[in-house]
Amino acid sequence: MSKFKGENTLIDLMWRNSLAGKFVTLTVVVVFVLMGASAVINYQSQRSELLSSIETQTEMLGNFVVSISPEALLSYDFDALDNYMEEINKGEDIVYAVIISSEGDALTSYLDRRNSYVAGELKNQKTMNVKAIVNNIKQNENIIHRSFPIFFQKNMLGHFHVGVDKNRVELASQKKLINQAVVSTVLTLLLGMGIYVVFKTYAMRPILQLVQAARRISKGMLDKAVDIQSADELGHLGRVFNQMMDKLQSSISEKDEALKTVQELNQYLEERVVQRTQELEALNERLEELALHDSLTGLPNRFSIQDHLNTTLAESKRDSACFTVIMMDLDRFKEINDTLGHDCGDQLLVEVGLRLRDSLRPSDFIGRLGGDEFAIILPETDELGAKLVAKKIQKILEPSFNVGEMGFSIAASFGIATFPKHGTTTSAILKSADVAMYTAKNKKTGYDVYNPGADSNTPDRLSLMGELRQAIYDDQLELYYQPKVDLKSSRITGVEALIRWNHPERGFIPPDEFIPMAEQSTLIRPLSYWVIKSAIAQHEQWYNAGIEIVVAINLSMHNLHDSDFILELERLLDETEVPNTAFEFEVTESAIMSDPDYVVKVLDKLGALNVSVAIDDFGTGYSSLSLLKKLPVHALKIDKSFVMDMATDSDDRAIVQSIIDMSHTLGLDVIAEGVENGTVTQQLAELGCDNIQGYYISRPVPAEMVTPILENIKWIENPDPTTNIHKLR
Ligand code: C2E
Ligand code: CA
Ligand code: CA
Repeated sequence: MSKFKGENTLIDLMWRNSLAGKFVTLTVVVVFVLMGASAVINYQSQRSELLSSIETQTEMLGNFVVSISPEALLSYDFDALDNYMEEINKGEDIVYAVIISSEGDALTSYLDRRNSYVAGELKNQKTMNVKAIVNNIKQNENIIHRSFPIFFQKNMLGHFHVGVDKNRVELASQKKLINQAVVSTVLTLLLGMGIYVVFKTYAMRPILQLVQAARRISKGMLDKAVDIQSADELGHLGRVFNQMMDKLQSSISEKDEALKTVQELNQYLEERVVQRTQELEALNERLEELALHDSLTGLPNRFSIQDHLNTTLAESKRDSACFTVIMMDLDRFKEINDTLGHDCGDQLLVEVGLRLRDSLRPSDFIGRLGGDEFAIILPETDELGAKLVAKKIQKILEPSFNVGEMGFSIAASFGIATFPKHGTTTSAILKSADVAMYTAKNKKTGYDVYNPGADSNTPDRLSLMGELRQAIYDDQLELYYQPKVDLKSSRITGVEALIRWNHPERGFIPPDEFIPMAEQSTLIRPLSYWVIKSAIAQHEQWYNAGIEIVVAINLSMHNLHDSDFILELERLLDETEVPNTAFEFEVTESAIMSDPDYVVKVLDKLGALNVSVAIDDFGTGYSSLSLLKKLPVHALKIDKSFVMDMATDSDDRAIVQSIIDMSHTLGLDVIAEGVENGTVTQQLAELGCDNIQGYYISRPVPAEMVTPILENIKWIENPDPTTNIHKLR
């Protein structure tokens, strides 16, 4: 049963919806019931009291008549009897009074004709028979009937019958009851109204205030406090309510504040994310570019070439097609680089790259292997087609290049190898192209197709190059370490990393044999990085084991001319926990002398990385004192050719002495390499040499052999080098 809003009945208003209504209704009902009950009780008791007084009066009247009537009866004085009746008649409520003789005759009688019963009987009776009338009236319950026997000296004379009407008394009682009921009702209503007013004023008003406040809260209006002044529970509730609102208000403002902060933070984060994403995208593009492209010419790099070669090989195998790789190397590039400077060399490479790209078909692939070496992959092309391409490139290289102020021409050598004829794997094809490129240098045409039987000497030497390329990836290379000892403290202060190649068929190949060869090709680059990475990894192991030494790494001339080298080295050093100061780089004097001005700049950059730099093989490169002063180096390493024989050769001893003195004058540390015996050690100590390195202390050994020496004998207790350092061998 749903009702529309606003369609409230009085019951709803008074009872269901109103607390005051409920309270007042309840009170009114209770009071009303109590008053009603008391009125009824009152009425009952009054009625019975009146009735009993009527009865008493009737009794008294009867006794009185019985006492006075014998005399009149005996004397038949009916007048007297009538008089009695008349007297009785004066009494209120008497309906009838009759004296009936023992014979049954009505001797005297009184009938109240005003009484409705009597009047009714009189009407019904045709004759005036008092006895019959009285008998009939006796049936009426509203009338009290009494009979009193009249005796004279134990003789019954008759009976006195009297009837008294209870009606008047009943009516009076009822009237009183009604009056009382009316008064009670009025009083109860007044009381109810009074209670309602008081309740509404003192109890409901604060409750309504609370209701309104709660409504305001539900709408989010928290500014207006509840104003209840009373000290009772409602006042307390009001105060608690206000506290609650305050709390709510403050927590809402705290929440708003926090929300604002979160929003600001969010916005900031979003902006940062956008910014970072843009940066990352740019960086990614750059990295992709760097990873796949040569930073100088923008051509695909070695990695990319290898990748493309793999794909082309797979496709050609699948389609049973052929393809050709041309390896190209600029003639006299080293010369140009050395005479005109590194920048000119770079510019030339960029120009060559541009011309190559312009001259080839879109399907042809061209990349820079490194240095002045380029690789061209020609899909579905045999050696004849490749020769034409080589000639075409020769043509486009003919016009002179304008680099700096100068114009000059440059030629190139091309090595051609075809799949599947000259190799069925990428490394075999590259190796064949590499060999062909070397043989091409001796040909007038400037290009050559790979021919395994063309030259008996070169192929061996050149195939070694191909094998070295493989060795770098196949883990045939190993680093050995040779200790360096401080002569004053007799302590091992460092080790030099020296590369070893253990060829699976040819056995051990000394570095002096393959390093210069690698330096002639692009292989020196991956080789150098392999050495640096391995040395750093080993150093990290020692460093983590608590071994504090300096690890020296040999740099080749090529490293110094590699434009990426310093950045790449910095990156590799950044990746290790070992501090940069714990690394030393050895650069030969001859490498410095090849292009002193340029190398000084490179060494400056090396110095900026906080690594040490030593001049290796010192004494063989004819450097001047003025140049030495300019070089940002920390140490000189006297070449072993002077040291080995100094015990027997006084000239060598004199040279060693002057190098030591000069080093100290320049504030440089000096180290002697190739120390093979105690006598030389003794002499070097006397000459004030700072450090020594040589077979006398230890041959270069694998890391696992040098580690226990470094762990156990970090220094020699007895400072006499001739005896004690010997123990380290
Ligand atoms: P280097 O830098 O002058 O290295 C010292 C060479 O002298 C080492 O030859 C070493 O084994 C040898 N040596 C050490 N003590 C003695 C001694 O008491 N007597 C004699 N007779 N020789 C001694 P190794 O290891 O054959 O290296 C030869 C050259 O190969 C090195 O000369 C260095 O120029 C080059 N090399 C070696 N490892 C690397 C490398 O990792 N990178 C580069 N770029 N070059 C390296
Ligand atoms: Ca060295
Ligand atoms: Ca040396």
